[in-house]
Amino acid sequence: MSFSSFNPPVRTLMGPGPSDVHPRVLAAMSRPTIGHLDPTFVGMMDEIKAMLQYAFQTQNALTLPISAPGSAGMETCFVNLVEPGDKVVVCVNGVFGLRMKENVLRCGGTAIVVEDKWGEPVDPAKLEATLANHPDAKIVAFVQAETSTGAQSDARALAEVARRFNCLTIVDAVTSLGGSPLRVDEWGLDAVYSGSQKCLSCAPGLSPLTLSERAVQRIKERKSPVASWFLDLNLVMGYWGSGKRAYHHTAPINALYGLHEALVLLGEEELENSWARHHKHHLALRAGLEAMGLKFYVRDSARLPQLNAIMVPEGINEEELRRRLLEEYNLEIGAGLGALAGKIVRIGLMGYGSNVKNVLYCLAALEEVLAAMRMPVDKGAAERAAHQALA
Ligand SMILES: *Cc1c(COP(=O)(O)O)cnc(C)c1O
Repeated sequence: MSFSSFNPPVRTLMGPGPSDVHPRVLAAMSRPTIGHLDPTFVGMMDEIKAMLQYAFQTQNALTLPISAPGSAGMETCFVNLVEPGDKVVVCVNGVFGLRMKENVLRCGGTAIVVEDKWGEPVDPAKLEATLANHPDAKIVAFVQAETSTGAQSDARALAEVARRFNCLTIVDAVTSLGGSPLRVDEWGLDAVYSGSQKCLSCAPGLSPLTLSERAVQRIKERKSPVASWFLDLNLVMGYWGSGKRAYHHTAPINALYGLHEALVLLGEEELENSWARHHKHHLALRAGLEAMGLKFYVRDSARLPQLNAIMVPEGINEEELRRRLLEEYNLEIGAGLGALAGKIVRIGLMGYGSNVKNVLYCLAALEEVLAAMRMPVDKGAAERAAHQALA
């Protein structure tokens, strides 16, 4: 047999994730594999838990990474907290809200949907009106940073409404963690999950998760066993909890080395500085895109700094645009999802990838490709605008 090694091209990742992985994270992942019950490894697990508490801004004891991507974090929350027959209010303003609804149905729950237009944040007043009509609802679920549209919702305000109606909250923070403000304890969020490959500068495959005492209590009071064996937090905690560690599944050792290093990097930079960096580079990219004549899909006050949804200009084929950026510039940006396919492109500035170099490279490449596709662009204007915004 003559199979050969796979050598991926070196790309610049500016889509909705995965984002560019920090070289220190890649180096950490290539260190020697040890046993998942090795005392040294268990010590590293404790450090990961403490650093995740910092990233989430929480004291929650149940804070750990699920051994699978963000979608598994989502599923962990629903499968553990929703029992058959439970009423769950799900806020839908994009693709990931729809997935939350699907999770409720698959857990045998009843989903009450609060709908907002794609590109708009979730409206707390609508949530309040819905809860007033459904006083028996037990959980409110929403996405803080809708990566499919680039809109950001007010997690603090939504959680405050949920609490007044005695509901637990399930919050999708896959794209927000590390990139924009998220304060789990201060805002009173109950079950929050994220992903490693967006604003944490880490490779995909892990889902950081944190649960409040109230949420843990709810799981303990379940009448039926959790339908997923792999994601049953009672069992997962036998391995990740304090005290003697019992085998549940083999942890993804090297992936966890990577997450550990990514969290060390976050600590070195400090969380607030990371939020500020994401914001600063968003403003620079935005100045450049607008100077080029491009329009944002989301209104100014609701924009996510780490994910910029841009309207595809008249007469431009977005598939060709993305293909040329990839082929000619090794630059990946994201397509629109669902109803937004063909209408928007999504430019991510996440984690290690939120830097001046990526902002300027993306603007220069876009300018060249759009000009080649016969869109009139004022060459150099974008770069000048970005520099001005950075100054
Ligand atoms: C990326 C993403 C997910 C899914 O994460 P995967 O790691 O792809 O499974 C869920 N929610 C949001 C908001 C996301 O951006």
